[in-house]
Amino acid sequence: MMKQPKRIAVKVGSNVLTRPDGRLDIARMAALVDQIAELRHRGIEVLLISSGAVASGRGALSSLKDESVASRQLFAAVGQAKLIEHYYDLFQEYGIIVGQILTTKENFINETLHANQMRCMTAMLDNGIVPVINENDTVSVEELMFTDNDELSGLVARMMKTELLIILSNVDGVFTGNPDEPGSELIHDVYPDDDYTQYVSSSKSKYGRGGMLTKMKTALGVAADGIEVRIANGRRQDVLLEVLTDPENARCTRFHASKKK
Ligand code: GLU
Repeated sequence: MMKQPKRIAVKVGSNVLTRPDGRLDIARMAALVDQIAELRHRGIEVLLISSGAVASGRGALSSLKDESVASRQLFAAVGQAKLIEHYYDLFQEYGIIVGQILTTKENFINETLHANQMRCMTAMLDNGIVPVINENDTVSVEELMFTDNDELSGLVARMMKTELLIILSNVDGVFTGNPDEPGSELIHDVYPDDDYTQYVSSSKSKYGRGGMLTKMKTALGVAADGIEVRIANGRRQDVLLEVLTDPENARCTRFHASKKK
């Protein structure tokens, strides 16, 4: 039996939270909230890094077709409000309060801003609040953006010294080839010195900015810093509970943490 972690980060991608027509998948959000509430009930602190702002804003403003920077900012502004409203209500049913953190890369680079950001997240956890974190897409500038929320989740995990980072995507993990092609197999374990980047498709996901390659890079980097990463399918029932409590048998890819810390 694995020891139960005290603090974890969970990253949920846009494709997990968005229906094919671009609207937010509230049933999926509710299922994930149910599981996070259960983890909290077991005494585990959870930091939630959630994408979905731009995708949900795009769904709400369907008449707006262009993808200019201004439109993206607008989608994020509208979509983030919807996203956090749903999280607030869903967690409220369990008596859990959430707080919103919208951040930019600067907050992880500059020492003073880093300390400030960390203090806020620590205060939230100390008060039993679940931080719901996303990039502030309304003000991020191209040169200083996170590659995607996978990168952000890795930075949060390191900053808050979580014992584990779980990245939920719309595939079961990293495969030996294109997951849709026959013969591709799920890689269950990646150890610190393995290099699996050659297998990974560089194609991007439909609604998010990332893809499996950036997930892999984030996961390898975070694991090298001593934090285990597990990539799994956020659409599978009870995925979080399974991946957390039974990683040996759960359908996921585990990036084992390097011992040197
Ligand atoms: N911050 C973006 C959003 O919430 C997602 C970025 C990404 O796809 O990783 O829509």
